[in-house]
Amino acid sequence: VFILAIESSCDDTAAAVLQNDKVLSNVVANQLIHNQYGGVVPELASRAHQQNIVPVIDAALKNANISKEQLSAISFTQGPGLMGSLLVGSSFAKSLALALNIPLIAVNHMQAHVLAHFIDEAGYDKPTFPFIALTISGGHTQIIKVNSFFDMDIIGETTDDAVGEAFDKSAKILGLPYPGGPLVDKYAQLGNPKAFTFTKPKVPDLDFSFSGLKTAILYFIQKKTIENPNFIEENLNDICASIQHTIIEILMDKLQLAVAVTGIKQIAIGGGVSANSGIRKTLKEAEQKFGWKTYIPKFEYTTDNAAMIGIVGYQKFLLGKFETSDVVSKARILF
Ligand code: ATP
Ligand code: FE
Repeated sequence: VFILAIESSCDDTAAAVLQNDKVLSNVVANQLIHNQYGGVVPELASRAHQQNIVPVIDAALKNANISKEQLSAISFTQGPGLMGSLLVGSSFAKSLALALNIPLIAVNHMQAHVLAHFIDEAGYDKPTFPFIALTISGGHTQIIKVNSFFDMDIIGETTDDAVGEAFDKSAKILGLPYPGGPLVDKYAQLGNPKAFTFTKPKVPDLDFSFSGLKTAILYFIQKKTIENPNFIEENLNDICASIQHTIIEILMDKLQLAVAVTGIKQIAIGGGVSANSGIRKTLKEAEQKFGWKTYIPKFEYTTDNAAMIGIVGYQKFLLGKFETSDVVSKARILF
């Protein structure tokens, strides 16, 4: 089975070709245009998708050494995401599936971040059901009990900002360019995580809140900069390490609670923030410390990519879960 997968939910145009559960090609075109605006501009995003989608799909087919006629089905991101962005991918997927007379498969982007673990990679151990997924990305922070491929329960989520936003907004306060998450990670590696302490939010059950942390960081930086105008540049590594440390503690506290509540000790992380080196390291250490089995995806399957849309497409192909061309994109969508 050959699946062409298209992802266009936010600001990355991505296409991948899978042969069954193996990735033959995985192409992403990042839209750097947004960096100068400090965030994704929806109108610019959909225009850039329109420019990128044909070359990205061509490259995916070429890298996979596959012709369009060999494809068995096309999967695309139905949502959640920016409507204008989603529509570019879905229209293209619909037209191509119609032209080639092959099945069309709609994929939930957040389910894809979870199921990216089922991409077949040499040396990568796939999780077994049930497991707990911690999905941490630019728009979401969720703890999910994954019972089977398409049976997932969200057992905790953020009540305000996502973890990715906590990283990006903290970075912005520090004067770092958008998206700041990877930069905070980079500087944190050189700093002392215990240099500064930020109060952790008190949120009941398995839910999260990150907006208070952002405000705490803002006030802390404002106060310190009044005392010393060079505070940020003199302490950047320590500030980043301390912010990252606080965020990791918040996540680990909730994961421990999730394990206690469900009795499941298999933890799989996904979403763009799971690229964070501190989170990856802490989670690995938790294997020894708590007796967990952890699953950390390959770097390229953490941030937005089409391979994850392809693996869900493949699973749905096996189940015959196809759509007709009147399927609609959804900016907000549950499982
Ligand atoms: P969603 O998946 O919720 O729709 P999205 O697709 O925009 O949101 P992703 O691409 O999955 O989000 O993740 C992007 C986020 O990941 C950004 O907030 C970015 O700063 C963050 N991020 C990426 N790499 C790192 C890193 N190394 N450390 C911390 N954050 C990171
Ligand atoms: Fe995403």
